Amino acid sequence: MPEAVRMDGKEVARRVRAEVADRAQALSQAGAAPGLSVVLVGDDPASHVYVGRKEKAALKAGIRGATHRLPESATTEEVLALVQSLNDDPAVHGILVQLPLPRAVDTDLVLDAVHPSKDVDGFHPANAGLLASGLDAIAPCTPSGIMRILEEYGVDCNGKDAVVIGRSRIVGRPMAALLTNANATVTLCHSRTHDLQGHARRADILIVAVGRPEMVTADWVKPGAVVIDVGINRTDEGTLVGDVDYASVEPIAGHLTPVPGGVGPMTIATLLSNTCLLAERGG
Ligand code: NDP
Repeated sequence: MPEAVRMDGKEVARRVRAEVADRAQALSQAGAAPGLSVVLVGDDPASHVYVGRKEKAALKAGIRGATHRLPESATTEEVLALVQSLNDDPAVHGILVQLPLPRAVDTDLVLDAVHPSKDVDGFHPANAGLLASGLDAIAPCTPSGIMRILEEYGVDCNGKDAVVIGRSRIVGRPMAALLTNANATVTLCHSRTHDLQGHARRADILIVAVGRPEMVTADWVKPGAVVIDVGINRTDEGTLVGDVDYASVEPIAGHLTPVPGGVGPMTIATLLSNTCLLAERGG
């Protein structure tokens, strides 16, 4: 049986980071060195790991990164005050609020306080609205990174049936908007969807962003389909698996992203390229 083309997110991310380094250098030479500020609240160990990776990647690409830490006990007002000070700082082009915030902090209020011109994650309703309206917008990093993977592997979305499973603000919804803007016919599925497998089987492009280990198996996939696995799940044995059962889907799909090494590396690379974009716009 033929095997699906393995879409190598690490390799595409390397290319994106090289482009970012060139853009960051040009910006620095023009006196506008791109600056990314990360707001990290509390003690969540995974968040500390992610932020460390983002800091390292920014530094390597020539982007000035700064992490602003607040304790677990921080109030919504304290986080809002920090975000406001970053909004007012002309050396800061992108502001990223690391999620999840502690339970006592109002996440929606904080995300909405980031000025849309510095909203490197594209989570602000003004940017989400632009994206949903088919207008020029800063789009969230994970779905933007997926669009770049599709482009790099010559997948033309025009007229294709695309099915997105998962409707989060971070992945599923903006993914559906980006695919719609690329002229795919999009079905957005979620936990209340009837006959999920039937929808998935009709997809030319299937994007899975649910958070359920290896939920999508061979009998969910149309032969030759492009399958993008966004899920990151840790097994009891401590290994990482996606939302797609790679081994069973590989002989059926036309293209497939692995976990790890697929979508994940593109998220940070796109964060860096979004920071450059905001600096280029003078935000
Ligand atoms: P959320 O938990 O915010 O959203 C999950 C979505 O999946 C919801 O829309 C939910 O539906 C839907 N869902 C849950 N169970 C089912 C089911 N049985 N059938 C159909 N739909 C279901 O997750 P995220 O979008 O933040 O993340 C999804 C996955 O992607 C996670 O594994 C996460 O770790 C990973 N991720 C990976 C990134 C990367 O860089 N590779 C970046 C971000 C996330 P409903 O809305 O009805 O509740």
